[in-house]
Parts: sequence; structure tokens; C-alpha cells
Amino acid sequence: MRVGRDPEEITLVAVTKTIDVDIMNQAIKLGIKNIGENRVQEIQRKHDLVIDSEKLNWHMIGHLQSNKVKYIIDKVSLIHSLDRISLAKELQKRAKQINKCIDTLIQVNISEEQTKFGLKKDEVIKFIESVSKYNNIKIKGLMTIAPYHENSENTRYVFKQLKELSESIEAKKYKNIEMKYLSMGMTNDYEIAIEEGANIVRIGTGLFGKRIYK
Ligand SMILES: *Cc1c(COP(=O)(O)O)cnc(C)c1O
Repeated sequence: MRVGRDPEEITLVAVTKTIDVDIMNQAIKLGIKNIGENRVQEIQRKHDLVIDSEKLNWHMIGHLQSNKVKYIIDKVSLIHSLDRISLAKELQKRAKQINKCIDTLIQVNISEEQTKFGLKKDEVIKFIESVSKYNNIKIKGLMTIAPYHENSENTRYVFKQLKELSESIEAKKYKNIEMKYLSMGMTNDYEIAIEEGANIVRIGTGLFGKRIYK
């Protein structure tokens, strides 16, 4: 509200990696509708254990190995980490088998940190053009992970650049491709991300406290 955004247009994804099902259930009772996990195994295990599972949207936010797509293709509503053609091929194959269109975001490594997955900014257009031939994959926007900075102000350029990239893709008016979502911002930097146009934020620590591992 401080920057003139409508709170209704921003989706809070509760990142529940490592969090037990009973804690997740408390969050769900409090109104959480979107669950983010970064491991296929955790989605498989928790999907049918939590309350109201069928009313939740499950988000795959972590690196996705192609050989594991088959375990979650029927369970997730948005994959935030599409970053290579081999994964697109597998998503197309598995989505088609179950007659589903799978919604995806392209993961972009804006900061070009070696340790992070995602396409480089200047690879995205070409990638999108090659994925657009896969009828069972819908590209719905972009996702990025900013590097950690004590002072989150230092991450602002990352969010600005992702927003600019999404606007330049939108201007190309590809059919099949929507730049509806910008998934950016975590516990440490979500305020900056929202100021720069995020409409999906992925929050773990801020909701559930410190995790033992990342
Ligand atoms: C763990 C994780 C988050 C949440 O991080 P917090 O700092 O705990 O809010 C968000 N996005 C991705 C991709 C993650 O792996």
C-alpha cells in the first residue's frame, strides 16, 4: 500500500521446505492457499497429507530434474524454475500424457551468480521462442532469486531488471506467452521486490522461522 500497490494483486507463496505437515496445517487454517516447495520428494510426501490439499496451489520453486517431472506433474499448479530445453521437453511429454497444460515461469539468473540456476537475461527471448512450440506448456511470467545482501536495498537492480525484461517480452506479443507473473522476493527482500513490481513473493523464514538447512 505504501507504494500504491493493491495487496489483492500480490500472491503470498508460503515456502514450506523442511516444515512439518502439522505446522503447515496451522498455516493453512490461517488462510494460506499457496504452498512452495523446492524438492520433488517433499511435494510427493506432503501433497496428500496436508488438510484441504485439493484447494491449495502447489508451487515448485526449486531446481527440477527432468527425470522427476513425472512425480509432480499432476500435483503442481505452477513451476517457477523452467530454465532449459531438456526440461521443457519432458514437461511437454508428461503434461500431454495426462491432458494437462502446465503453467510455468522462466527462471532468470539476473545476478549471474555461479551458484544459481536460471537463464542469463540475454538468453531468455530465444528460449521462450523455442518453448512456444510446446502446446502443453504455458509460460506465465518470470522468476528470479536475488543474491543475499544484509542491506536488501542492494538487490533492487535485480528486481528492476526482471521487470524490464518481462516488459520487453510482453511488447513482442507472442501468442501463447503471457507475462502475468513476476515471482521475486523472499523474506529478506520482499519489500523491495514488491516496490519493483513483484506479484508473487516466496516467503519461508518470515512465516515459519529459521530453517536448519537452506
Ligand atoms: C527457500 C526459498 C525461498 C524462501 O526463502 P526465505 O528466505 O526463507 O523466505 C524462496 N524461494 C526459493 C526458490 C527458495 O528456495
